[in-house]
Amino acid sequence: MDQQPHVLILPFPAQGHIKPMVGLAALLCHTGRIHVTFLNTDHNHSRLTHLQALSTLFPTLHFKSISDGLPTDHPRTLQFFPELISSIKSVTKPLFRELLADSSRKSERPVTCVIADGIMSFAIDVAKELGVRVIAFRTFSACCLWSYFCLPNLIQEGQLPVGAADEDMDMMVAGVPGMEGLLRRRDLPRICRIQLNDPLFQFFLVETQAMTRASALILNTFDDLEASILSHLAPLFSKIYTIGPLNALMRSRIGDGVPRSLSTFSNLWEADNSCMAWLDSQPLGSVVYVSFGSLAIMTRGFFMELWHGLVNSGKRFLWAIRRDTLSDAKGEQAIPVELQEGTKERGLLVDWAPQEEVLAHPSTGGFLTHSGWNSTLESIVAGVPMICWPQIGDQQINSRWVSEVWRIGLDIKDTCDRSTVETMIRTLMKDGREEIMMSMDRIAKLARDCVGQGGSSYHNLDMLIEDIGKI
Ligand code: UDP
Repeated sequence: MDQQPHVLILPFPAQGHIKPMVGLAALLCHTGRIHVTFLNTDHNHSRLTHLQALSTLFPTLHFKSISDGLPTDHPRTLQFFPELISSIKSVTKPLFRELLADSSRKSERPVTCVIADGIMSFAIDVAKELGVRVIAFRTFSACCLWSYFCLPNLIQEGQLPVGAADEDMDMMVAGVPGMEGLLRRRDLPRICRIQLNDPLFQFFLVETQAMTRASALILNTFDDLEASILSHLAPLFSKIYTIGPLNALMRSRIGDGVPRSLSTFSNLWEADNSCMAWLDSQPLGSVVYVSFGSLAIMTRGFFMELWHGLVNSGKRFLWAIRRDTLSDAKGEQAIPVELQEGTKERGLLVDWAPQEEVLAHPSTGGFLTHSGWNSTLESIVAGVPMICWPQIGDQQINSRWVSEVWRIGLDIKDTCDRSTVETMIRTLMKDGREEIMMSMDRIAKLARDCVGQGGSSYHNLDMLIEDIGKI
């Protein structure tokens, strides 16, 4: 039996988790010495139709799938998140145990290390029970992760939940060391607005603490971006490997060996590449790219306000809007003629865009984003400033850092009226651009440097590969 390491990677079944973890899998397999089994849910595996092409590029990379316990026709959208996490625990966990135990008993190449998503803590417990080394990979930003670790403190001080009708949401929050004078109530992760006994709040509380049972932590961030917060996280883990931005590290380490972006392989939706030809025909830096990621939903009212704001700004826009975005899309309603005409003149709507390519395109000058962590990093790598309209998860806190710490964008959280959207787009695309672009260029350069030879993420990946190799 050969002694090459065999890593089993288990992502949480959502786009923003799968993509960076596929990137890590490719980087590990690029060494040629590490075997990786990437474990998707059956449902996602059937949607990831291009994944197998990666096995051709990386012969030590294999894909397997496991049930998430939900019926085939279950929508698995954000509204049903509690059902998904509960069925993963009851159905996927025992299946995962069986799979890992079989690997030790029957396989020629047993799994030597599990890399488990930071919100799949059952995998940490199973791996430890079976004596397999386990590393957690949290796909959020470090600043959000740290705020999650501070939840018990915030609860104890009686600061949660926030968001009561008469509450001043601009009041500063104490209790998240390192973010004093920065974090307002409205910037706390979205779960801080729900009741403490809500299963969703409890889920994130428990999962976060559970991660410390892993032998190390991987984060898709880079030292120069989040150094101050990483120093708070460091005592909680025996080792933290910061290896982001993973899309840029892939390009730096694997180079031309893979197509331009990871999305080609790890998209749950088929990208509409026709928007690239449209971008080719637009002036340099003139287009606002709009996308709220793979999970965010909005009411029809919000959608219409955004659309009016975009059209009224007079700027060109490319809007990636998933068909399932509207939470109350009952029946077709007439689209006002001014929106139809403004969009025909200056805009393009697609279901799903090849986002990394769009951000890298010279015609793209700004990004109206939900501040998902992958989107934020992709925007940083491309040097595109942002307008942040955060919805869930880590987005509230990411957007605060984007606007107030890194100063690479504007934050419009908790507002969504056409005039704010219009004003912010005009500001980002012209009037207020100079200062933001100075910061953007500086941070984009830091991102590029950290993934190049001698950079922190480049080095940390080497350390991770070396540590995985110690069987
Ligand atoms: N994405 C894409 N095309 C789209 C919208 C999103 O390729 O039209 C990708 C985007 O590049 C990012 C991921 O989907 O890598 C979304 O992850 P993120 O963490 O930004 O947000 P989430 O979907 O988890 O809310």
